[in-house]
Amino acid sequence: MQQYFLDQKINCEQKIEFNQEQQHHIAHVLRMKQDTVVRIVDEENHVFLASIHYENQLPYAMVQQQLMDTDKNVEIILVASLIKKEKWEYVLQKAAELGATMIVPFISSRTIVKTSNEKEERKLARWNKIVLEACEQSHQAHRTKVVKPITIKDLPNYLVDVNLVAYEKENVSKHFVQYLKKDTSTLILIGPEGGFEEKEIDQFMKMGIQPCSLGKRILRAETAGLYALSVLDAYNEVKE
Ligand code: SAH
Repeated sequence: MQQYFLDQKINCEQKIEFNQEQQHHIAHVLRMKQDTVVRIVDEENHVFLASIHYENQLPYAMVQQQLMDTDKNVEIILVASLIKKEKWEYVLQKAAELGATMIVPFISSRTIVKTSNEKEERKLARWNKIVLEACEQSHQAHRTKVVKPITIKDLPNYLVDVNLVAYEKENVSKHFVQYLKKDTSTLILIGPEGGFEEKEIDQFMKMGIQPCSLGKRILRAETAGLYALSVLDAYNEVKE
C-alpha cells in the first residue's frame, strides 16, 4: 500500500488534497484506480486509511479510518561521517528504512568529501527527499530528517540518553549492543573510510560519548552505520 505524508492535521471522513508531486505520482506514475486505498500520515504523525477519487482527472482522497500505529517517541540519531555521493545517498535511504529518525552528516578530521556552500541547500533538499520517500515506502509514521553537516563543536547539541561512537580499535567485549537500553533515544557516531583519529575519540569521550565495538570485522563506513541501526532495531523489537 502506498503511503503519503501530508503537512496538515487530518480528521476522519475529511477530503484530502494532495500536492502536485503526489498528484502526479498517484495519477501518472502508479495510475491508481478509483477507490484504491492508501495510507496518509498527517503532520502529527497520525496514520489514516483513505480512498482515492478523481475530480476533473485530478486525484484526491477521502479519509476512512485512523490506524493506531503511531511510532514510539524515541529518537534514533545516526551521526555519519560524509562519504562519496553514491554511497552516502545509499546510506541515507537505508538508514531511514531501518528506523533512524535523524541523520546528521559529520565532517571529521579525515573526511575527504568536499562541501561547497552554494550547493548546500539543494543537496540538503535532495537528501531529505530521499529519506522521506524511504519513510513512505517502509510505512513509518515519522519523517526522518537530515540536518546540515556539522563538525565536532556542534555535536553536544545532538546528544540524547545513550551516546555511542563506533571505534574499530575498541575491545569486542565492549560491543554496541551492551550499551543499549530498551526504547531509549540513542545516538551512534560513525567514522569516515579512514576511521577516527585517537584525538577525536578522546574529545568524544569528554563529551560523554562512549566508544564501542561493532564486532571483530572491520566494516566499511557505509556498512557500519547500517549494521548499528539493524542491531538497535532488533534489540528494540525483541520482547524480554
Ligand atoms: N580505516 C580504518 C577503518 C575505518 S572503518 C581501519 O582500517 O582501521 C569506518 C568506520 O566504521 C570507523 O570509523 C568506525 O566508526 C566504523 N567501524 C567499522 N568497523 C568497526 C568495528 N568493527 N567496530 C567499531 N566501529 C567500526
